[in-house]
Order: sequence, then C-alpha cells, then structure tokens
Amino acid sequence: MTQDTNISASPRRIKRGWMNLRVERIVHETPDTDTFYLVDADEGGRVFDYIAGQYLTFRFDDLEAKPLVRSYTMSSSPCQEPFAAVTIKRVDGGRISNWFCDKVKVGDILRARGPIGKFVFDPNLDQPHLVMVAGGSGVTPFVSIIREYANKLGHPLAPRQMTLLVSHRSQADIICAADLAAVEQMSGVKVITTLSREDRRSEGFWFGRLDEDKLSQALTGTYKSATYMTCGPKAIMDQTVAHLQKMNVPEACIKTESFES
Ligand SMILES: Cc1cc2nc3c(=O)[nH]c(=O)nc-3n(C[C@H](O)[C@H](O)[C@H](O)COP(=O)(O)OP(=O)(O)OC[C@H]3O[C@@H](n4cnc5c(N)ncnc54)[C@H](O)[C@@H]3O)c2cc1C
Repeated sequence: MTQDTNISASPRRIKRGWMNLRVERIVHETPDTDTFYLVDADEGGRVFDYIAGQYLTFRFDDLEAKPLVRSYTMSSSPCQEPFAAVTIKRVDGGRISNWFCDKVKVGDILRARGPIGKFVFDPNLDQPHLVMVAGGSGVTPFVSIIREYANKLGHPLAPRQMTLLVSHRSQADIICAADLAAVEQMSGVKVITTLSREDRRSEGFWFGRLDEDKLSQALTGTYKSATYMTCGPKAIMDQTVAHLQKMNVPEACIKTESFES
C-alpha cells in the first residue's frame, strides 16, 4: 500500500455541490462487490476534497420515472490521490447497487454531491485508540480510515492505535482484502476478520457470527481508552452498541453509521 505520510496533504479545493464524476477504473473486489475509481470531470480530472469516512450521494435521473438517490462511502483515502473510490456491494433485488456492478463502465459520467458525513476520526474529540466494528459493505468507511491513518499513527491529528473487527461470510467475500492484510503487519494496527460461513481458523481467521463473545474477546482492555465506530447490518451495529453500553462506554465514544434506510 502506498501512502503519503504527510497528514496535511497539499491543500485542495473544497467542493460541495453536484459534480460530474468520471469513472477511471473498476476493480472487481469480490463476487458481489466492485470498486469504482472516480475523478471530477469538470475540474480537469482532479479529485475533490474529503475526509476519510465521508460519503457521496449519487443521483440517477434516467433510470426510473422519478430520480433515484443513493449514498456511497469513499473506501479510498484522501492521501491516495489522484482518485477517490467507492466500493459497492450488490444488495439482493437492489436497483442501484446492481446497476452499478452490471452497467457502469470506464469513461461513464456519474452525478454526485458531497462529500458529506461526520462518521470520521475527530482528533479533537476522539480517544487515541480507534476501534471499528463492521459487517459486509459496512467496512468501506473503515478501509478509508485505515488507508488514511495506518502510516500516521501517533501524529497529533491521527489515532495512536486502530483495531478493526469485521465479519464476512467467507474469505472470498473480504472487501479490500489485500490492503487489510498488508496493514495487519503494521505495529499499532490490528485487523480481526471473522468468517461466518467458512472455517479458516488454521489461517488466522475467526469463525462464526460476530456475537457477544467475539466482541468481548476482541475489545477486552479497550473500554477506557477507545472511541468506537460501527457500521454494517443492523444486527451487528445493535449488538456492538449494546455491548459497549454494558461495558459503561460513554455515549460520546460510540459512533454509528447505518447504510440501510
Ligand atoms: C451514508 C451511507 C453510506 C453508504 N455507503 C455504502 C457503501 O460504501 N457501499 C455500499 O455497498 N452501500 C453503501 N450504502 C448503501 C447504499 O446507499 C444503498 O442503500 C444500497 O446500495 C442498496 O441500494 P439499491 O438501490 O441497490 O437497493 P434498493 O432498490 O434501494 O433496495 C432493495 C432492497 O434492499 C434493502 N436494502 C437497501 N439498502 C440495503 C443495505 N445497505 N443492506 C441491505 N439491504 C438493503 C431495501 O430495504 C430493499 O428491500 C450506504 C448508505 C448510506 C445511507
């Protein structure tokens, strides 16, 4: 993974209106998930400004009688110029996620607004240890955050330590697997992947659904010094929040982002 270790990267313009984003590259991540690399077509192919964890809202005027609007979080990091990327997982019967994965091609122009969102690391308010709990496509903001801060841990504007606990069905479903495997080797970063439907414990994965036991095992010792972020299926988010409340973690140290409307 190539990263810029300068946290205050060269100033870029702030843009918050509707943009025409050109698809520069598409990477097939897993059998049902693709990453789309985007640049701002109106600004000579530059990248818009964003904070790791923020999302874009896309608008589709021509697919149905009424415009459709969907949000997708950047999985890239702002330090990874010259592109921004969104990683989209197909939802069964979903109109836009399947349209993205089936129809969008390199060179297409997509209308999007943003970036926006407060599901980010806040150096002024958050604890030095950032603990992230995700399921499925809910890992996208955390991939962005890990890409942004993994090489900057301990910097005044970055966390000191990061832990990601993520659940996928099988090894083939792991989103951005290569980058996450690479950061696992770095000091200060811990990635725990539990596979709910495939037993690969001999290869270092955990096995089974992300339940109370796994949360306890992964989070023990963190409760007094961490900020927690959780994103993904409602069941995982609810269970994580309930576990943290049981462990008396203050509300200000728990952040959630729901992908489901
Ligand atoms: C702030 C935000 C950020 C998001 N970031 C991402 C991202 O980075 N990557 C990503 O893949 N998705 C992300 N999403 C979800 C995305 O916006 C869409 O909701 C999702 O792609 C489904 O849209 P669709 O048009 O395919 O499905 P729809 O046609 O809207 O829905 C089809 C069916 O699927 C159900 N459904 C809708 N959304 C979900 C969901 N997320 N999970 C399970 N079932 C669902 C609906 O209830 C409905 O029954 C994000 C959502 C929000 C609000």
